[in-house]
This record gives sequence, C-alpha cells and structure tokens, in this order.
Amino acid sequence: MKILVTGGAGYIGSHAVRRLLQYNYKVVVYDNLVNGHKESLPAEAELVVGDLNDKEKLDKLFKEHEFDAVMHFAGFIEVGESMKNPAKYYKNNVVNTLNLLEAMVNNNVKKIIFSSTAALFGYPDEIPIKEETKKEPVNVYGRTKLMTEQMLKDFDAAYGLKFIALRYFNASGADFGIGEDHNPETHLIPIILQVAMGKRKAIKIFGTDYLTKDGTCIRDYIHVTDLINAHVLALKKLLSANESNYYNLGNGNGYSVKEIIEAAREITSHPIPAIKSKRRSGDPAVLVADSTKIQKELGWKPKYDLKAIIKSAWEWHKNNPSGFEENIN
Ligand code: UDP
Repeated sequence: MKILVTGGAGYIGSHAVRRLLQYNYKVVVYDNLVNGHKESLPAEAELVVGDLNDKEKLDKLFKEHEFDAVMHFAGFIEVGESMKNPAKYYKNNVVNTLNLLEAMVNNNVKKIIFSSTAALFGYPDEIPIKEETKKEPVNVYGRTKLMTEQMLKDFDAAYGLKFIALRYFNASGADFGIGEDHNPETHLIPIILQVAMGKRKAIKIFGTDYLTKDGTCIRDYIHVTDLINAHVLALKKLLSANESNYYNLGNGNGYSVKEIIEAAREITSHPIPAIKSKRRSGDPAVLVADSTKIQKELGWKPKYDLKAIIKSAWEWHKNNPSGFEENIN
C-alpha cells in the first residue's frame, strides 16, 4: 500500500510517516517545507518538495505513483494569524485542499484521512464535545477546516471520494526521536518547556477569570502517538469499509492551564514562573472531547496520560535545544 502524506515533514505528519513505515506502508511525503523540517523524515520516506498550489506538480505526482490513499496534514494552524491574515488561510487550507481533492479525483484516488480540529466547535454548547455538537467556529482557522469538511462531503456525494475527518484536540508530546518544532511557537506545552529550558523568562497565562475551577482555560491534551495510532486505524477502516466518517480525537480529560504548568514544574524540576495575562481572543473556556465514537467503531484507546505527554516532549526539547537545527535523523 502506498500513501501520500501531505505536510509529512510537519510535527504530526512526521510522526505519522514513521508509524506508517513501521506498518510497512510505502510513503511519499509532499511538503513545501515552509513549516516542515526535512530532518524529521527518515530515509525510507520519499520527499517531494512542492506546494499544494502547484496543480501541475500535484497531477504529475499522482501520475507517477499509484497511491492507495492520502493523509492530508498540510495546512496552517495558528488561530491568531488566521484572524490577521485570513487570505493566507483560505488559500492554503481551503483552495489548496481543493487542488488536492481535484487531483485525487482526476487520478482516481478516492480515499483521504483529513486533519480536522476541535476549533470547528467554537464556543461549544455541550461538554464533552460529541461529533454532532453544533459547529460554529469562532476563528478563521476553524472556518477553513469546517469548509474543508463540507467540501469532502460534497466530493463524496458527487465523485465517491471517501474520507475520515479526525478532529484533533490539543496534540502534544514526542516520539521516534522527533518532536514539535514550530517557529514561532504558540502552543502551551512547548512554550512552558521553553521556559524550563531557559529560553523564555516566564509563561503568560492567557486569562485567569474564566468560569472554570481555577479561572484558567481547560483543554484536552492528547499524545501525538495516540493521535497517529488513530490515523492508522482510520486508514485501515477506510481501505476496507469505504465509508466516510468523522471522529473527535481527544483523551477525554480536561486540564487547566495552571494544572499543565504545575505538572511541568514537577517533571522538569524548574520553577517555571507564570504571569497572569489578559485573555487571548477566540479562546473557549473549556474544550474536552467525547471520543466514545472512535473508541467503539475503530477500537482506538488512548495510552498516554498528561505526565507521559509532558515527559516525552521534555525529553525531546532537552535533547534538541535548537529543534531540528540539530539535524537528527
Ligand atoms: N495558553 C496560555 N499561554 C500561552 C499559550 C497558550 O495561557 O503562552 C493557553 C491558551 O489560551 C489555551 C491553552 O493554553 O487556553 C492551550 O492553548 P494552545 O495554543 O496550546 O492550543 P489551542 O487550545 O489554542 O489549540
């Protein structure tokens, strides 16, 4: 089986590539390396450097290989940036995904696993969040992902393209000797670890007046390994059952920002100074997944708790203080 992995040099994509290779899938990565790191890829993965806006190159890629399915990780992921520069997000996340879907249909590749997000749900009207919970994204990033889910549904109805959309909650952690290296980094756990590394003086807590147990936002943190294990299960299901579906993908446990900082203090033995700061716009107070559906239908079970997530990320950051500039392979 040969899988095209778009964005395969990125944080989650590169972990997925390693797992796919372990399971003996052949892997071709298509990545423009704007945010991805070629150093995150092992030699067995073929890397094609290209952009999803390049329709000709995409078509050629599909003609040169016989792909059985696509895993589509490529996309911009920063909520704040999406509000300031929506054009960039609509172009890359929506228009470029449309290019990919057209290339797939034109070349008769009709199976795709799509990286969706909890940001679809905006300020959710129920917790934990189920697949059918109302979807009203409150930022451009979330809207681009919702639009893509809608495109997928329409492509299924019209062209028989089958998809599984996985709505990620807060992915973190590290595995396979690779890790999370975004520039700039905006995510809570890596930023906290940068404080522990001495790269930042303090962590800013965005909002301490939410209606939660300690006033800070609650999120559902999922280990990247659990996340990619779900991708492999979804891929197997898609290849055998040929049915489109949506799954929420989180651990089902909510932790506040303060609890994350406290856990990181224990693991790193660093005091990690924290500064109360104002709310970040577009942050819902609580986002926790109900992942019963994927557990029941695909037999997925998260294996890693919060400590394991932070520990694995800490190991990687300690061993790679400059991220992928260290050139590991
Ligand atoms: N957060 C914070 N300080 C930071 C970065 C994030 O307090 O420097 C908070 C953020 O407001 C949210 C939570 O940590 O409540 C997780 O944010 P992150 O950006 O990691 O993921 P998101 O939930 O936005 O996908």
